Amino acid sequence: MNSSSEEHQIKVKKQKTYVEEHEDMEEYTYIVVGGGIAGVTCAEHLYILDPEAQTLLLTASYLIKAVTNVLPLTKTLDAFDVEEQPPDELVSRCPSVTVKRDAVLQLDAKNKVIHTTSGKKFKYEKLCICSGAHPKVIPVAGSSPYVLWIRDTESVGQFQARMADAKRIVIVGNGGIATEMVYEVTGIEVIWAIKDKYMTANFIDPGAAEFFRPELCREKVKKAVPLKRLKYTIDKANGDIPVMGGALGPDWHEKLELKGDNFHRVILEKEVEVACILSPEEVKKLGKTVTSTKFEEGSTEWPVYVELTNGKVYGCNFIVSATGVVPNSKDFLAGNNFSLSPEGGFLVDDKMQTTEKDVYAAGDVCTPNWELSPHWFQMRLWTQARQMGSYAAKCMWSSVSGEEMYMDFCFELFCHATKFFGKKVILLGLYNGQGLESKYEVLLRYSEGVEYIKCVMVDGRMQGALMIGETDLEETFENLILNQMDLSEFGEDLLNPDIDIEDYFD
Ligand code: FAD
Repeated sequence: MNSSSEEHQIKVKKQKTYVEEHEDMEEYTYIVVGGGIAGVTCAEHLYILDPEAQTLLLTASYLIKAVTNVLPLTKTLDAFDVEEQPPDELVSRCPSVTVKRDAVLQLDAKNKVIHTTSGKKFKYEKLCICSGAHPKVIPVAGSSPYVLWIRDTESVGQFQARMADAKRIVIVGNGGIATEMVYEVTGIEVIWAIKDKYMTANFIDPGAAEFFRPELCREKVKKAVPLKRLKYTIDKANGDIPVMGGALGPDWHEKLELKGDNFHRVILEKEVEVACILSPEEVKKLGKTVTSTKFEEGSTEWPVYVELTNGKVYGCNFIVSATGVVPNSKDFLAGNNFSLSPEGGFLVDDKMQTTEKDVYAAGDVCTPNWELSPHWFQMRLWTQARQMGSYAAKCMWSSVSGEEMYMDFCFELFCHATKFFGKKVILLGLYNGQGLESKYEVLLRYSEGVEYIKCVMVDGRMQGALMIGETDLEETFENLILNQMDLSEFGEDLLNPDIDIEDYFD
């Protein structure tokens, strides 16, 4: 055999091997992993920017999350609903997007191939990982069947089932989820264990916490308005694909209201953590003194007991762990060179790129690693998941098309709109003086039970604001933070209720 026919045979063999290896491999320009807000927004925006390109949305959840009824509140802040939808709805809106229910088993970033748990392979030009985060469970929980958390529709279902016979629960955590649960759960006793000096410390200051404190023992006002999202669908396990639902949408807590009685019975335990979880037998054996509450009638034998670091031991039906989240990055790490933040998020640059070429990340799974603007920081929230998903799509498209892309304006100012204890809450910029090391002044307007307005000022310029109640000041304050106007001449009159500052700065 001469050398040229040898070469030919080798070439044919190589080609054959390539075809065999790749015959079950689908190729896409863009692949987005995750059917939560970040992933769906990314896929939608890729379709808008590059409708001819083939995009695959790969998600372990049955339903996907879609943002609907977007209502701009200010230049950088939108109010919106989050709906769970079957994947077909996304495909009908964006025909070049294919949605597949499958979970990533391994990412081969060098060869740009994703291997899934169902044994399939997908090749991409650009990949965006939007795999969200999972709840951080209290360290002492072990595999205790009495510790629950809330993340997705399935966990809400488990919570509802357990609530049916519950008389007392312990909620551990001080963030938005814990706060909303404490408000929504009525008719049973709630022991709220927080590690900070005051409630809801991630979002509000001690003054605002005092504003809300009466709500802990007040009757909850029943809402007359119907729910925007009427049903939750519980994910069901199927074959080998693990069930990983996306984080819930804005009205998730409406479903927690299960008891007829509208009274809040909350005992707030401050500056504590859970020391251990004990069975009734362990409580007896160790001779622990069980703490009784003002709501308790007679002594009760509880299925589980929680010992706090202040020495109190509370009996309860179950414990809810709401102590933050851990990014879902682990399924993508093997064999790759990703740089991660200490909490496990993919570090992304100002183009949402991870440290692996052509791999982007957005939403709860990522951690920004660019020079942040002075009034913006990351919080794992719907608003930011949506903004990052949209911006990542622009960056991916820009890299394919060669079009120049600048940092999105939404990363100029931290904005968040929510409701605590049934009241509208708007957070702008450095609303808690974040990073200002106490070198700031606070202007305050307070009307008990009606409104709480706080402006964080440095050298007469507004750095952040917290507004509770129907203040209608968000747009004015947003402008004042963004343009850094010197407001020294107004002094405390900036919040004088007799001066219409909204009109003045219009
Ligand atoms: P997710 O919504 O978690 O979506 C992740 C997706 O990735 C899922 O579809 C999952 O199936 C998929 N996935 C994961 N791993 C894989 C894999 N290996 N292969 C394939 N697919 C995978 N934010 C607010 O702004 N305001 C609030 O009031 C608020 N309240 C909240 C209340 C609760 C109970 C919870 C849990 C969260 C709350 N949040 C709130 C946070 C908000 O929900 C999240 O920041 C946001 O949903 C994150 O979106 P995401 O798209 O990044 O991730």
